[in-house]
Amino acid sequence: MASQSPTTGAPGATDLPDYAPVPQSAYGPALNQQGYYVGRVERNLYWVTDGSYQSAFLTTKDGVVLFDAPPSIGGNIRRAVDEIASANGVSNKVTHLVYSHHHADHAGASSLFDKNVIRIGHEETKRLLERDNDPARPVPEETFADRRTLKIGGERIELEWRGPNHSPDNIYIHFPDHDTLMLIDIVNPGWAPISMSNLSEDIPGYIAAPAIALDYPWKHFIGGHVGRLGTRDDITLHQQYMADIDASVRKALVSVDPTPFFQKYYDNPWAAVSALFDAWTEAGAAPVIEKYKGVLAAADVYTSSTVFWVMESIRLDLGFASYVHP
Ligand SMILES: [Zn+2]
Repeated sequence: MASQSPTTGAPGATDLPDYAPVPQSAYGPALNQQGYYVGRVERNLYWVTDGSYQSAFLTTKDGVVLFDAPPSIGGNIRRAVDEIASANGVSNKVTHLVYSHHHADHAGASSLFDKNVIRIGHEETKRLLERDNDPARPVPEETFADRRTLKIGGERIELEWRGPNHSPDNIYIHFPDHDTLMLIDIVNPGWAPISMSNLSEDIPGYIAAPAIALDYPWKHFIGGHVGRLGTRDDITLHQQYMADIDASVRKALVSVDPTPFFQKYYDNPWAAVSALFDAWTEAGAAPVIEKYKGVLAAADVYTSSTVFWVMESIRLDLGFASYVHP
């Protein structure tokens, strides 16, 4: 029997499973006393992390342009900007904030910046933020539809929307003069995606996004998560991982026979479907976990969840193994 906390009766930590060790290469630089790290990406482009989330900013001759404001970094964004501005003798005034997408975990510290900040985002980000009506995430004053070039303080930033992926409004933020691409919640460099392909709404779009990312010229990748930046090799490894999941899921979908599930639960089709989904997921995930254990951190933690969601997309978006009653 599983152990329980003697005081609350709740499941205790002794119930928690152990996982494969995280490869050292998955970690980034150490955090400071306040719990953040700020570093140069290239020239006057910087990134800030708390080990799980990432934000970025450009120092320009007219002030600072901020890219995302994750609430978990929160007040440390201001501290990081101040630290870099004072070290370089440039303005610490944040004049612009660019939203990568509308999600609260990347934008929820937006309201920490004053009302004079110009917020910029995709038009769908604006629509979704109006819908969500969250005072922590003021709607962007400036929007764009497909692409927009920002020229701020002598710096060039290319914003582009290439269709839905992780979210309907997620954009590509390219810094052509800094050899950098910022694309949030698609690839976690060195790590497996978290739950259900990084909680992505559009799986065909999510799977296509890394190739679009690689079409841009860049050397440094800001993925929005984990404690380090990414490389082009990180994107390629992620693509291989997702391709292996795709192939493995297709194999599972045609090799696990649904008949016994519906025989056993003939009077409860939801029980049959639930058990069948579990069986497909397990068969699809096992070889991928085996291959990526020790290669992508937490592959053994999260692959099953991503396999489940990719499997549903392969069935429902692509119609693979769809059965038409004769
Ligand atoms: Zn998101």
